[in-house]
Amino acid sequence: MTKPKDISKAIFTAITSVVGKEKVPLHEPLFKGQEWQYLKNCLHSTYVSSVGSYVKEFETALAKFTGADYAIAVSNGTSGLHIALKIAGVTSGDEVLIPSLSFVATANAVSYCFAKPHFMDCYDEHPAIDPEKLDQYLHYETEQRNGKCINKKTQNVIRAIVPMHVFGHPVDMDHLNVIADKYKLVVVEDAAESLGSYYKKKHTGTLSELGVLSFNGNKIITTGGGGAILTNNKTFAERAKHLTTTAKIPHKWDYIHDEIGYNYRMPNLNAALGCAQLKQIDFFIKSKRKLYKIYKSKLEHIKEISLMAETSGNRSNYWLQTIILSEEVKDQFDKILKLTNNVGIGTRPIWKPLHKLPPYINCPKMDLSRVESLSKRIIN
Ligand SMILES: *Cc1c(COP(=O)(O)O)cnc(C)c1O
Repeated sequence: MTKPKDISKAIFTAITSVVGKEKVPLHEPLFKGQEWQYLKNCLHSTYVSSVGSYVKEFETALAKFTGADYAIAVSNGTSGLHIALKIAGVTSGDEVLIPSLSFVATANAVSYCFAKPHFMDCYDEHPAIDPEKLDQYLHYETEQRNGKCINKKTQNVIRAIVPMHVFGHPVDMDHLNVIADKYKLVVVEDAAESLGSYYKKKHTGTLSELGVLSFNGNKIITTGGGGAILTNNKTFAERAKHLTTTAKIPHKWDYIHDEIGYNYRMPNLNAALGCAQLKQIDFFIKSKRKLYKIYKSKLEHIKEISLMAETSGNRSNYWLQTIILSEEVKDQFDKILKLTNNVGIGTRPIWKPLHKLPPYINCPKMDLSRVESLSKRIIN
């Protein structure tokens, strides 16, 4: 066998031709709209916290933008996932199917429900859950009992599945929804990275019963910290609002909380920032898509790698530009990360697979051989 050629220098040259050799972080928010004005207005109003008009305004704008009937603003994407899973019926002792290649928040939110994440493998060359492998697995490893999906090995109920639109690229929701239906699983979309991404013309996070967005500082728009739950179900929406606002019964002066709620609401100050940011989303997405095209033109001559691209019929926000190394050059992974980071270009590997993190080592999982391979070949 011939030794694969060294492509690390070519990749380095291509990247620096796009971003220069200056320090460039993986993410950087941009505040070029009405952020300063809205924040000032918010401070003037003195309503910086749990009450104030920007929260409602942000929720209305989000619902309009995504086409969801309801959007409930929350303190961050993780708390949004926690409450969405709780509303989906995830409860103590359950299992929830999640991709092993995701940010740790997906697994943590499952744990906050006293449930266990159950890790799924990805496609050969794409980090999202492979629906066919999933179907096969559930066919052999589960049985239906009283309309519930039971893990034959653990005897636990597998209650839900959380597809994640990774790096902004919509996953095959039609296929996943068919499987979820077949095995009686509730679907909660982790759309934390995919505001502005569409699966067959429908906004990600609105293709199942509940979806969750994040507005962390690194996401396509930011509220500092923040998130939102999307749903078309009025009961779910009311329940999400109630649970995230300490389960307080509205009353002029009395403090009546009818269950254990959470202080997960988005402060008005953060919502003010969100209102200003959301107005610029078309520009942000246009810029991200342009950046993809530039990278593509600079990198396409390197045949040993591919760039993650939107699939036909779908539209990606291209939140993070992503290189996938082919098997033959996978040994150059660290070298590429080193070359770029040494000059301050903040390239990053994909997350460490969740089933390898200390708190999740003993969780149920399917064969994860593709995750094992792909996790050592993806660079943002
Ligand atoms: C950002 C993100 C979240 C939520 O993160 P927060 O920081 O809590 O807003 C959840 N899942 C994924 C995949 C993410 O990228």
